[in-house]
Amino acid sequence: MFTTENLIKTLELFKEKIDANKDYLSELDTPIGDGDHGNNMARGMEAVAESLGSKNPDTVMDVFKLTAMALISKVGGASGPLYGTAMMEMAKASATTTEVIPILEAGFLGIQKRGSSEAGEKTMLDEWAPAIEAIKENQLTEELLQTFAEGTKELIAKKGRASYVGERSVGHIDPGAMSSKYFFQSLLEAGVI
Ligand code: ADP
Ligand code: MG
Ligand code: MG
Repeated sequence: MFTTENLIKTLELFKEKIDANKDYLSELDTPIGDGDHGNNMARGMEAVAESLGSKNPDTVMDVFKLTAMALISKVGGASGPLYGTAMMEMAKASATTTEVIPILEAGFLGIQKRGSSEAGEKTMLDEWAPAIEAIKENQLTEELLQTFAEGTKELIAKKGRASYVGERSVGHIDPGAMSSKYFFQSLLEAGVI
């Protein structure tokens, strides 16, 4: 179940992991993108921390909403609107439930719709889809999350900048899948799942 406290904790942990792995995420984005994913996410999560710190939201919905708005307004790259849409859809879902699975599924569907994408196209969805399935089975671990991110190596990019290199994207981990690993890992560590 999401609570205001465990969601804020999740976002603090997510920001820490993004900051600690900022260079790594941008390195992953170099051979198959434009080398800015770590910087984009770090800028976005800095804005999220500032917004949550100054506005003190006291519902799950408001935490998701402020997070969405900060990401959408502060991140120029594709990942800003995509993560931002996920957070906005999770905000909407949290109006009727605090259950984790339907909320995460709403986020997943938001990315899919905003990105005109689906799992299997070497994007963040290839982390979200198997992670949500594993949560349903009550089997999610950090190791599994890493396996899913590494699993994007074998996929051919069909969406976003990585699609420009086509088959040459094979062998490289998708940067958005790796940043999404940190998001799900943060949910685990904050005790949400
Ligand atoms: P940009 O590509 O604009 O520089 P980022 O580098 O911050 O933006 O983000 C790239 C990540 O965004 C990719 O690794 C991928 O996971 C994700 N992404 C890009 N396009 C899509 C899409 N259409 N659907 C889902 N995810 C996408
Ligand atoms: Mg990029
Ligand atoms: Mg870019």
